Amino acid sequence: MNCGLLGRHLTHSYSPQIHSHLGTYPYGLFEIEPEDLKDFFTKKAFDGINITIPYKKAAVSYCDSLSPQAQRLGSVNTVVKTEDGKLIGHNTDYFGFASLLQKSTLSVSGKKVLVLGSGGASVTVEAVLHEQKADVVIISRNGENNYQNLHLHKDASVIVNATPVGMYPNNGVSPVDLSLFPKLEGVIDLIYNPARTKLLLEAESRGLIAENGLWMLVAQAKESAEWFTGAKISDDKISHIYQLLKLQMENLILIGMPGCGKSTVGKRLAEITGRKFIDADAAITEKVGISIPEIFAKGGENAFRSIEISVLSEICKGSGLVIATGGGCVTKKENYPILHQNGRIIWLKRDISALPTDGRPLSQSNDLTEMYHKRAPLYQSFADLTVDNNAQQEETAERILGGL
Ligand code: NAP
Repeated sequence: MNCGLLGRHLTHSYSPQIHSHLGTYPYGLFEIEPEDLKDFFTKKAFDGINITIPYKKAAVSYCDSLSPQAQRLGSVNTVVKTEDGKLIGHNTDYFGFASLLQKSTLSVSGKKVLVLGSGGASVTVEAVLHEQKADVVIISRNGENNYQNLHLHKDASVIVNATPVGMYPNNGVSPVDLSLFPKLEGVIDLIYNPARTKLLLEAESRGLIAENGLWMLVAQAKESAEWFTGAKISDDKISHIYQLLKLQMENLILIGMPGCGKSTVGKRLAEITGRKFIDADAAITEKVGISIPEIFAKGGENAFRSIEISVLSEICKGSGLVIATGGGCVTKKENYPILHQNGRIIWLKRDISALPTDGRPLSQSNDLTEMYHKRAPLYQSFADLTVDNNAQQEETAERILGGL
């Protein structure tokens, strides 16, 4: 059995990895230009394929028959070749979104749900929501309901983002301002990179349900694998693969007082987990071409902090990294969404008497005890996990991994 993913740009696809947990079939990537699409479907050099942007609609015309779901949505994301060479088109995004909606625990029946965007994913989302008796409003840039008249929908209970706004590498932008919707219960964003878009970070900060699209990606792959192999796969697999991927994509971000061991422990963590290690202070020095004491001497702490924000913004868009931050990054609240968008934030604690001060301008010019008492509540408010680092780095790294 020869399976894979058809699309135009597939370098960052998670599908091969997801399918490696779903079956033993080989799963390749077929990057095809539009002019070669016909040839691809004529040769049929596959037994089963998934289809992604921009070919989900075009694939319909190459199928000999369609499942009722694919027919209704006019979009195919899974094609299976029968023994006599016929191509059957399915749409597993429908199951993927229905499964995500269930995971979110949001109940949509009889409630107003805004779906942002009117592309392929929006059509699938709308169909699932209609099935669940939601009052669906599509928000489209040029539609009757658009971003200029959102005030007509203040009574919305749920928002689903089916646009690419906020997706990597254009992190940090949101399609709507959630303060417009006082009755909002939750937000689902189909984007999964970053794990928390600006829209989801805002939902989270308002105490709303906030779900990204990773579960949907895994759930639709599970149903595809069932079509490929003809064998039923337990829904428990979705949760298992989702947890694996979530952990793998997450950045492990170390915060704590200057000299508490963030770089040493970070390097060890990176070695153990096979991740790339980035030291934010080293990245700052590299970006501006002078040392941190020189940046402080020239522009003071404010100049340093604004460079730090812009460097962290770039670094933290990455996935699966270990990042050691500078000790004072928590003094700027803007850094929280930057670190949190893709990261698990770990506060490393070490006794003040054990903190070195060499080459650390703020540690040399301030009373470290006073600095600690000012910063401790900030570290606490940023941290997902707090770990003592008074023992060996090996032990600390193990303790961090045990706490994830
Ligand atoms: P698409 O067919 O290109 O449609 C996206 C829609 O978003 C467009 O039709 C447009 O709607 C709107 N849009 C595009 N650029 C925009 C902008 N700059 N500002 C505001 N709106 C904009 O893409 P799609 O296949 O529907 O995918 C949409 C998103 O869902 C993508 O981020 C994709 O990665 C994600 N997705 C995730 C999964 C999953 O499994 N998690 C599955 C499918 C898709 P209007 O012109 O009506 O405004």
